[in-house]
Amino acid sequence: MPAYAPDSVVFPSTAPHGFLIDMDGVIYRGSELIPGADRFIADLLAHDLPFFFLTNNSQRTRRDVVAKLRRLGIEVEESHIFTCAMATARFLADQKPSGTAYVIGEGGLLNALHENGYAIVDHDPDYVVVGEGRTVTFEMVETAVRMVMGGAKLIATNLDPNCPTQAGLRPGCGAIVAMLETATGRRAFSVGKPSAVMMRAARKELGLDASRTTMIGDTMETDILGGVQLGYRTILVLSGGTSREDLAAFAYRPDLVVASIAELSAAELAGIASSKAG
Ligand SMILES: [Mg+2]
Repeated sequence: MPAYAPDSVVFPSTAPHGFLIDMDGVIYRGSELIPGADRFIADLLAHDLPFFFLTNNSQRTRRDVVAKLRRLGIEVEESHIFTCAMATARFLADQKPSGTAYVIGEGGLLNALHENGYAIVDHDPDYVVVGEGRTVTFEMVETAVRMVMGGAKLIATNLDPNCPTQAGLRPGCGAIVAMLETATGRRAFSVGKPSAVMMRAARKELGLDASRTTMIGDTMETDILGGVQLGYRTILVLSGGTSREDLAAFAYRPDLVVASIAELSAAELAGIASSKAG
C-alpha cells in the first residue's frame, strides 16, 4: 500500500458536496416555516445531494422531527435527521456498550439510548445523561447530583443555555447541566454541537470529506464554531438568534452571512450549477 497519495487521488473532484443544516432559526421559528426553506430542501432532494438536519434538540425522535417538518410542508425521511440525542447514545454505546443511564430528558433521548442498547435505571447508573425538556424536577436534579457524587459520569446532550419558544426563552440543557456541575464540582462531557463528536459523526455518516461539507446555522456558539473547528464551510443565516451586529463580538467568522436560507442555492453551493450571472 502506498504511504503517500497525491491530493487529486484522495479527493477526486467528483466527490459529493453535502450539507449539515440546523433547524430552529434556519428552517422554522417555533411552528412557522421560514419562507424559502422548503424550496432549498426540495433543491437538495432534486439534485440528490447528501444532507442531515443537525439539531441540538434532544426532545424529539427522528420520527417526531419528520412529522413536524411534514406539517411545515417539508417532506424528508428519518434518515435525514441527526439529533444530539442520537449522537449521545451512539457515543455512549461506543464508550461503554450495554451500559446504564439515569436520564433527565424526554422521548428523543430515552428512545435513542434504548436503540443503542442502553438500560434506563434509577439506581447506580454508569452515566447521568442530561437533555432538555420541561419535565425536569428538583427531585430529579437531587437524584442526579447524588449519582454523580457516587461515581456516575455526567454527560450533556448539549450545552445550549436556553431554547427559543413562541412565548420567549426557556432554560436549555446547558442551564440544567450548570446546576449539576455547580452542585457536584464535576464537569460534564457534552456531545452536541459544537462538539466534534456529533459534527464529525454526521459528516462521516454522509460519506463526505470535511472540505466538501457545508454547515448552515443561526448560532455562532454552536453551528458556526463547530463548523470552523472541523474545517467545514460555514454559512450563518440571520433568520434566527444572531444579528449582523453580534458578529463583532466573536474571534471567528463564518464564510458567508445571508439574511435567510432563501438566499441560498443548494446546487450552486455544491458546485453543480454555475452562480447567477452578474
Ligand atoms: Mg438554531
